[in-house]
Amino acid sequence: MEVQITPCREDQRKPIPTDDSQLGFGRIFTDHMFRMSYEPERGWHDPRIVPFGPLSLSPASMVLHYGQEVFEGLKAYRGRDGGVRLFRHRDNFERLNRSCERLVIPPLDVDLMVEATRKLVLLDREWIPGSPGCSLYIRPTVIATDPYVGVAPSQTYLCFIIIGPVGAYYPEGFNPVGIWASSEYVRAVRGGMGEAKTGGNYAGSLKAQMAAREEGYAQVLWLDALERRYVEEVGTMNIFFKIDGEVVTSPLTGSILPGITRDSVLRLLAHWGIPTQERRLSIDEIFEAGKEGALEEVFGSGTAAIVTPVKEIAYKGDRLTVGDGSTGPLARRLYETILAIQYGEGDDPFGWCERID
Ligand SMILES: *Cc1c(COP(=O)(O)O)cnc(C)c1O
Repeated sequence: MEVQITPCREDQRKPIPTDDSQLGFGRIFTDHMFRMSYEPERGWHDPRIVPFGPLSLSPASMVLHYGQEVFEGLKAYRGRDGGVRLFRHRDNFERLNRSCERLVIPPLDVDLMVEATRKLVLLDREWIPGSPGCSLYIRPTVIATDPYVGVAPSQTYLCFIIIGPVGAYYPEGFNPVGIWASSEYVRAVRGGMGEAKTGGNYAGSLKAQMAAREEGYAQVLWLDALERRYVEEVGTMNIFFKIDGEVVTSPLTGSILPGITRDSVLRLLAHWGIPTQERRLSIDEIFEAGKEGALEEVFGSGTAAIVTPVKEIAYKGDRLTVGDGSTGPLARRLYETILAIQYGEGDDPFGWCERID
């Protein structure tokens, strides 16, 4: 299958933002989008790039009622050398297929999705911001489109990719945040959908996120749903704890989203000879380590921020300051190393980046 391109007319073009400091996240989209349809008789068909615009959907579309949908989030980066690069993008489409599997959505051809992404990004390449830390966010999505309000897998689907420029995550510097462990709400339970990037997980997290904000914290620290003791994720990021020289993160037990940045962090740490452990870690053990002075660093990992250092953890009225409350050296090293790889400025020992122009 070839990806067909229908470019927009001159009068359909939108102005490209000129002030990268005003980009923010997730509100600006380029002139084009990718789309492709699924029907049982034809499979995935008609992959095409078209002018960006509204979708026409029946209000009975299944996705609107029961949330049968999956998505991904990745970025294209413009280096100082002018090159445009994608970071581990095949991994995103492979993960999208694992999410599809969980939501009984027919799988996509990874090579086709990679080709569609490359073509779309290059067609709208003028939109990729060049300022440090800025990038082009890429949002592939698949939704169930049968006009049927019964609970069943849809027969038809729409896959689309929209892209848009996003600003630097740390415009004021690489500063640590406070996080708040919820003892009331959980994000996911083994056997549920926590491993899949699907909208329902995020709808279910909003209430806890609001509660964290009301307490003055930036993100929710999610504990496991069964015992409410073991740390799982932070906000929409994976989480790492450096205790006594060793870096611990939760194992992928079924309720955790297998982050690509998480994997990159684990591989870099191994490469640097820093010991890592994927094991269950309880909130009590973390507070214990903190009180003994053994908790050196805490940080989240995800595509949006790469690494988010944590300065304080709150749990049931107790507060713990991590290290001396400032950004730790390991979080900074990981952040700077991954950033340099993404912008084509550093060694890329694992071949994570592909230059596409
Ligand atoms: C997307 C996501 C992550 C991070 O995944 P990356 O591939 O590193 O961006 C972690 N947790 C949740 C819940 C997510 O949705």
